[in-house]
Amino acid sequence: MRPARALIDLASLRHNYRLARELGGARVLAVVKADAYGHGALRCAQALEGETDGFAVACIEEALELREAGIRAPILLLEGFFEADELEPIQRHDLWCVVHSPWQLETIERTPLRRPLTCWLKLDSGMHRVGFAPADYRAAHARLAASGKAAKIVAMSHFARADELDSPRVAEQLAQFAAATEGFDGEFSLRNSPALLGWPQLFRRGHEGEWLRPGIMLYGATPFEHYQAQAARLRPVMTLESKIISVRELPAGEPVGYGARFVSPRPTRVGVVAMGYADGYPRHAPDGTPLAVDGQPARLIGRVSMDMLTVDLTDLPRAGLGSRVELWGAQVPAAEVAAAAGTIAYQLFCNVRRVARVWHD
Ligand SMILES: *Cc1c(COP(=O)(O)O)cnc(C)c1O
Repeated sequence: MRPARALIDLASLRHNYRLARELGGARVLAVVKADAYGHGALRCAQALEGETDGFAVACIEEALELREAGIRAPILLLEGFFEADELEPIQRHDLWCVVHSPWQLETIERTPLRRPLTCWLKLDSGMHRVGFAPADYRAAHARLAASGKAAKIVAMSHFARADELDSPRVAEQLAQFAAATEGFDGEFSLRNSPALLGWPQLFRRGHEGEWLRPGIMLYGATPFEHYQAQAARLRPVMTLESKIISVRELPAGEPVGYGARFVSPRPTRVGVVAMGYADGYPRHAPDGTPLAVDGQPARLIGRVSMDMLTVDLTDLPRAGLGSRVELWGAQVPAAEVAAAAGTIAYQLFCNVRRVARVWHD
């Protein structure tokens, strides 16, 4: 069997969830969209169901996977419905629904419902992607309330730059939200992982009306570019690992892999790892991208190919055929691999495929 696998540590997932609760002190929806950022939505939901206040997913298909497997906790659809006919299964499966656009509000107004919906009404406080403009928000709220179709309206918005710890945008978006919702005393939801980890000074701790929406932090990756004290408390959940399946001794001046991107500057011992871009490892990872071989720091050399990649073993004389290679995990932070490859840990996780996933407590 090919040795490439993703180990998923559910005890660390719970540790990270508890950190979110400790930092925010409010209610916490675990964001498990995109198959729990590649970690397996159902297995992650089962691991958290005993303690979470609910889950958030991107669409009804993701919600139904959880409902059909027996998950009873609340599930929020982060983009609500995409077509009017989703309102029927939304009611049947008791899903919560973001309302971010006038057409969704109109659809709710004109559709007969069996029972009122739990609606999260989204404000565009500055990200300019979805949500009602500040000037229209109060009217949308009033219409939804007057429709009689909403059991509850939670005011929500989303931060665009909370991962930049010196950005003035977080405070600006928060001020926009405060102005648009002034006088509302109901529940609200603003904070994703970077806002929760990085901006405690802007939020009152333990505000009982608040719902947190952490995603990436549950999976143990920092959303920040640099060291951050709270993010340093996270435990990585996924370990992407494989083994060395071939070793080459090359003299100086020999190319390795497609396009000869790497040419040995000295006599070089090259290890070939069963892991490639078809497994989700980034093809654009440059020479020098960190990984670990038998627990020792090592570096990628040569272009990543579909099923294999190559690593410099010259300074690791004891490593060889069968050595374990960690592509990311406890020893090699996914965020560092992502930074080297010009992307973010979110994308690395979501891209993982083909490898066996092994969940453990
Ligand atoms: C994905 C998502 C989140 C989670 O964001 P993280 O940065 O992963 O914590 C929260 N809210 C919304 C609306 C999202 O789409």
